[in-house]
Amino acid sequence: MSATLDNNNNADTGLVVQTQRRHFLVRMPSTEVLQCVAQGRDWQLACGDKVTVNVAQKAITALLPRTRLFYRADAFKQKLLAANVSQVVIVCAADPLPNVGLLNRSLVAAEATGVKVLLVANKADLPNQEPLHQALRPLNGLPYRLVSLSSLDERGVETQLKPLLMHEQSVFVGQSGVGKSSLLNTLLGEARQKVGELSMRSAHEGSGKHTTTFSQLFHLEAHNEHSWLVDSPGVQVFGLAHLNAAERLAAFPEFRALAGHCRFRDCGHSHEQSCALKTAVSKGVAHESRLQMLREFLHD
Ligand code: GDP
Ligand code: ZN
Repeated sequence: MSATLDNNNNADTGLVVQTQRRHFLVRMPSTEVLQCVAQGRDWQLACGDKVTVNVAQKAITALLPRTRLFYRADAFKQKLLAANVSQVVIVCAADPLPNVGLLNRSLVAAEATGVKVLLVANKADLPNQEPLHQALRPLNGLPYRLVSLSSLDERGVETQLKPLLMHEQSVFVGQSGVGKSSLLNTLLGEARQKVGELSMRSAHEGSGKHTTTFSQLFHLEAHNEHSWLVDSPGVQVFGLAHLNAAERLAAFPEFRALAGHCRFRDCGHSHEQSCALKTAVSKGVAHESRLQMLREFLHD
């Protein structure tokens, strides 16, 4: 990333609220939203980034220092999901049931970003919740908050979910079909539709292939600058190429303190004797399926 802090005092600072290839919507302190291009062709910007803007030219001139960047990566490139976040909200449901690999990858990426995790089990109105509970059971005892609700239940969303989003900068992730859009509609009401129209307009100027490729930032309340959330496109794969083996292990809270405690320094935590992680599982302190996930992540 070649963007640097700009010392140009004439520039205004804004918040990136939509990213779509080379086009960005930037919300200015006046709450006006500008459609801008980035001055640097190779700049990767994410919703939640603070940038300086040359308002007359509608150009992003610099990226301000960012913290807690939530992203995924394969061997070739990074895909930024949101910047300056404090919380990752993972939406799941009884139908479709969680893809356990994807769920754990999202958790690992959130841990590596150093942010809180909130699990939202949507579609609580569906009759058979047991398979979902079973899928989430290995996460019991981990520092992840879980709320069950239905996006159809406005009051439930208002009283159970909204308070957990206040004063947070959240990014929503979830498999397609779990009801992420429905949930955001219930939560944000008109605000979401309004920004939706705006993004449609800019999308039509481009390729027209938009719904799956852009991220958007919404303020939870109109006059509350500090509570916002980012809706990121649904993902099928969640690459962790940006994390080395030690970082992947450290992203499992139940195994973190055990790093370096196996008999063999290069322990693969599978067939070796005196493996501290396997011992934790056999004592019931950690879940076998989480260890299986970790092994998988250490090998890919
Ligand atoms: P997304 O792909 O995650 O954005 O999911 P959508 O919001 O498009 O929802 C997928 C399907 O699930 C739609 O048919 C919704 O009507 C349905 N859905 C969403 N929320 C709920 C819910 O709380 N309960 C039930 N029963 N269906 C829901
Ligand atoms: Zn081991």
